[in-house]
Amino acid sequence: MGSIFHMTCRNKACRYSVKLREGEGMRLFAWIKTLERDILSGKEAAPEEIKNLLKDGYGLECVATYLCPTCHEWQVGRFPYVLEKIRVSPYGTIREYNVHYLDGKPKCEECGTELEFILNPRSGKNKCPKCGTDNMRVSQFGFYD
Ligand SMILES: [Zn+2]
Ligand SMILES: [Zn+2]
Repeated sequence: MGSIFHMTCRNKACRYSVKLREGEGMRLFAWIKTLERDILSGKEAAPEEIKNLLKDGYGLECVATYLCPTCHEWQVGRFPYVLEKIRVSPYGTIREYNVHYLDGKPKCEECGTELEFILNPRSGKNKCPKCGTDNMRVSQFGFYD
């Protein structure tokens, strides 16, 4: 199951609001699990680093939030990737990570700029892509499958 939520900027002059998704939902989940199997069996080509991470027990994910630094927009991308955790705090917070993409670094569909991966889109500490205020809030939350 995936979740769906809105992030809204608390800056009254801005009020940027965006609908985002987290997690794969059933259909995408089935698709990436098949993709994982095909990569491991060699049916699907993949970079060596991705193969090794999958062998180490990492899983493919595909729904993530990205910032386009040119459009100043957050967007949901569906690019298969493996999130390698390099340093994790004793409480499970990821301090350092590396995102390995199956098909190269994702680009904005609108302008072609390389997108920036956002690890915790629901965190209020993220900067608003429009005004730069680091005060975003979750304004609605729900689920989809
Ligand atoms: Zn763009
Ligand atoms: Zn804002």
